[in-house]
Amino acid sequence: MKFCSLSSCSYANSVVVQDSHTCILIDCGLRKRDIKPFLQNAGLAAGDIDAVLVTHCHTDHIYGLRFFLELKDVPVYSTAGILRQLQHCCALKRHPRYKILSHLAEEKIGSLEIMTLGLSHDVETVGFTIRGDGERMGFITDTGFVPEHCIKAFQSLDYLYIESNHDYDMYKNSSKPGFVVKRNLGPTGHLSNEQCGEALRSMQLQGCKLVMLGHLSEDDNEPQKALKNARRLAPEVPIESAPPRLPGLWSDLLMRCK
Ligand SMILES: [Zn+2]
Ligand SMILES: [Zn+2]
Repeated sequence: MKFCSLSSCSYANSVVVQDSHTCILIDCGLRKRDIKPFLQNAGLAAGDIDAVLVTHCHTDHIYGLRFFLELKDVPVYSTAGILRQLQHCCALKRHPRYKILSHLAEEKIGSLEIMTLGLSHDVETVGFTIRGDGERMGFITDTGFVPEHCIKAFQSLDYLYIESNHDYDMYKNSSKPGFVVKRNLGPTGHLSNEQCGEALRSMQLQGCKLVMLGHLSEDDNEPQKALKNARRLAPEVPIESAPPRLPGLWSDLLMRCK
């Protein structure tokens, strides 16, 4: 299996994951005008996507969903609660084909098997493990801390996409309003570089082929800081960061470049 971040920051988030048979989009926070060119940059068209998974209903994750569904009417997967919120906040023209994910059982989407994991954010939010081609990927973003059940589920992964949102010291001196800083540093906010690094250390990542740091704040983080911290705490794994507002490289290409 392989994955490619189309955009990863506080402004817009969307990641493609695919195995030999099935291709899914996790979130679609892209602007309308970016959807086609960003997919094209990854060698894809909307027609290649089989389903969209939604982690939660913040604008940076769902803004472009309605435009994407106009290009291709695919099923939209998330928990019942998140799908209910989506219907209210996304101004979807038609009622999409909603598919409910449960925390209790794996869901098959084509050849991919998805496990849904609850996270800690200020709205209902989920992460995933995705199994395909005999490999397993973890996906966790927008959470104030890494819950214990995620640490357990993320043992022995082949790939991991994990939020490394802000540098704690940069964020404390942020120009953002005090209540925003308090929220984002709290247990229902975002993962700091430090928390991300600690989580990496507590997962058994020895066999992991690639860790991708995502959702880096453009104001309160620097890729080099996030990478340096993560690489120090998990020196045994290749770690890269996803570029903001632009598509990155496919994971298999990144691994070949190493
Ligand atoms: Zn977000
Ligand atoms: Zn969020």
